[in-house]
Parts: sequence; structure tokens; C-alpha cells
Amino acid sequence: MKYTLQKIGLVVFCSFFVLVGLAMLLPDKDGFEWGQSAFMGMAFVAMAAFTMVRGVMRINKFQKKTYLWYKASYPLNVDGNRVTCFSCGSPRINARGLMNHSYHREHYCTQCGATLYYSPEGK
Ligand SMILES: [Zn+2]
Repeated sequence: MKYTLQKIGLVVFCSFFVLVGLAMLLPDKDGFEWGQSAFMGMAFVAMAAFTMVRGVMRINKFQKKTYLWYKASYPLNVDGNRVTCFSCGSPRINARGLMNHSYHREHYCTQCGATLYYSPEGK
């Protein structure tokens, strides 16, 4: 549910920039011209759309790749509280905080570097 709200917020936020970009593309009183503002507008729309798609994909990843998902996908690598790497079998799993206001941690294998799953910060 929290993720759905995050996605809606992101789409609303980026849609605002798409609209600003589209407004720049609108013809002014002299009619449409392929000037600087048209290019600026297109860059705005492209960047906002790119940010939106990337953000939603990232949230989808956090939403999907949880500890429970890992446990269900690799039952042999989760034994009680002991988690091992699905790729190389190493029990040395570390967590690191992800930047960019994601508020998530990435759990990864210190042996081969594979990402195992993600968890929200503060849990
Ligand atoms: Zn590994």
C-alpha cells in the first residue's frame, strides 16, 4: 500500500514536469517555431518521463524483491535466520543503505556481490 502511494506521488510529481514541458511546446502568438523553447520543452518531457519510469521500476523492485520473496524463491538458501547467497552459497551477507532517498537497504553477498533482496530502512 505504501508502495502504491509512492508510485502515485512519483507519477503526479513527474506529470507536473511533463505538463511544464508540453506548455513550452505550445505555439506562442507567432505560431510554433523550432526554437530553443521547443527543444527545452522536449528535453523536459523526456527527462520527466525517464525519471518517472525509472522511479516506478525501482519501487517495483523494492516491492517484489523482499526477504519473503527471497525465501520463497530460494528456499534452500534460507534456513531460519540464516541466509546464504543463491549464487555462490556464501553465508556472508551484508546490508548497505541505498542513497537517493530510497529508504531501503540492499542485502548483498560479500563473496560474489550478488544482490539478494531489499528491505525498508528502520526495520
Ligand atoms: Zn554470493
